[in-house]
Amino acid sequence: MIGMEQLVSLCKRRGFIFPSSEIYGGFQSTYDYGPLGTLLKNNIKAAWWRAVVQERFDMEPLDASILMHPRVWEASGHVAVFNDPLVDCKACQGRFRADHVWYVEAVRGDQSASYAIDAGEPDEAEAKAREKYQIGKRFEVRLQPMLVDAAEGTPHICPNCGATDSFTEPRAFNMMFRTEVGAVAGSIAYLRPETAQGIFVNYDNVLTTMRRKLPFGIAQVGKAFRNEIVTGNFTFRTREFEQMEIEYFCWPEDGARLHQEWIDARLGWYQRYGISADNLDLYEHPDAKRSHYSTRTVDIMYRFPMGFSELEGIANRTDFDLTQHGEYSGHTLDYFETKTERRVVPHVIEPSAGVDRAVLAFLTEAYEEEQLTNQKGQADNRTVLRFHPALAPVKAAVMPLARNRQELVDAAMDLAGQLKPHFTTQYDDTGSIGRLYRRQDEIGTLYCITVDHQTVDDDGQVTIRDRDTMEQIRLPREEVLGWLQERITT
Ligand SMILES: [Zn+2]
Repeated sequence: MIGMEQLVSLCKRRGFIFPSSEIYGGFQSTYDYGPLGTLLKNNIKAAWWRAVVQERFDMEPLDASILMHPRVWEASGHVAVFNDPLVDCKACQGRFRADHVWYVEAVRGDQSASYAIDAGEPDEAEAKAREKYQIGKRFEVRLQPMLVDAAEGTPHICPNCGATDSFTEPRAFNMMFRTEVGAVAGSIAYLRPETAQGIFVNYDNVLTTMRRKLPFGIAQVGKAFRNEIVTGNFTFRTREFEQMEIEYFCWPEDGARLHQEWIDARLGWYQRYGISADNLDLYEHPDAKRSHYSTRTVDIMYRFPMGFSELEGIANRTDFDLTQHGEYSGHTLDYFETKTERRVVPHVIEPSAGVDRAVLAFLTEAYEEEQLTNQKGQADNRTVLRFHPALAPVKAAVMPLARNRQELVDAAMDLAGQLKPHFTTQYDDTGSIGRLYRRQDEIGTLYCITVDHQTVDDDGQVTIRDRDTMEQIRLPREEVLGWLQERITT
């Protein structure tokens, strides 16, 4: 399995993902998708749209704006929460209130030892420290605030992992990026921290214009922004990211069943596009970790290079969001069934996936290093990205066997030109065929098509090489398009 450093290096070398603003030294864990990364990401989003909207009867697409009325974020709870000064430990990613971290000294005569503890009050801090570090009764415990109103020179120790000087600066923590709108100062807006709210505020618009009945859902793909204190693991946690979110509106009594159906559907989607079941897992949120309004939240976990981590979260949000927006906007968001004269605030199932995490997962899954034996009987390696045909950034590469013979170049260009309207096709004559094959394997190109002397002098046939099996067949060039179309599935 690929390591994180290897993955980062492959992404850079082959044009999938670059550090943002790289010529200025990069910027704050932001990343740019290069030519192949752009194609891969677009293919992943297209595969998602296909599965969650096009192939279903009960879903509608939406593309809401990033800037929204600031009251939206009051209703959603994003403004109110997170106003305490927090610090994060860069070593263990533990998060603490800055005024709750204590430096602890246990002293007895000339014996002493120092620790750190997090607690609200000094008494609590002492009791907690005595228990955690098994400080004997005969030792005196001296406490000093570590981060807020701390004496000069107080050591910074993480209460969780014991790392020293690993804290971020304390800050009033609101993860939303603030900005001002228009020329008048004081008109505050936020970059959306999730795409979901754009769906909730359009619930009624979609319901009425599309003449929907419960259950139905709305899907959206778009950028979201969170001012995370700790970022990391390449594109796994960044401050600017892209989401693929669904809000599925249903009768309250159907919520639990539909939640499970969405978990199964989304797990199936990752497998349909090549993720093996062995590398997927489900994490059931315990009560304490779940938002108060959610009755059940399940994360789809993927075995990333750094270990199993969240790929997609699927929550049963009950009627929380529509109720909140109803109250804050004064525009009641409910559903009325004429036949039964029943009126409810629909419950909501929310499958929320990260596009960037999906890109990382599909890249990780596709990566393989193969041990081969070449024609001279020597050991040889090849790196291949075994993307699903629908996700592969490049479907076909056409190459002339010799670039110094114009007829071959013309015939190869002509064939590539015929394929281009149908799928992403590269023309490449920048190296020997063996070298070009390896380069195409390393970006996951499905088929390499070689135009040789025989093609132009004799039978008009070309060689098609399969990425996975490396088997080659000969085919008349006018049959290539149809042959590829049968094999490049969606
Ligand atoms: Zn720590």
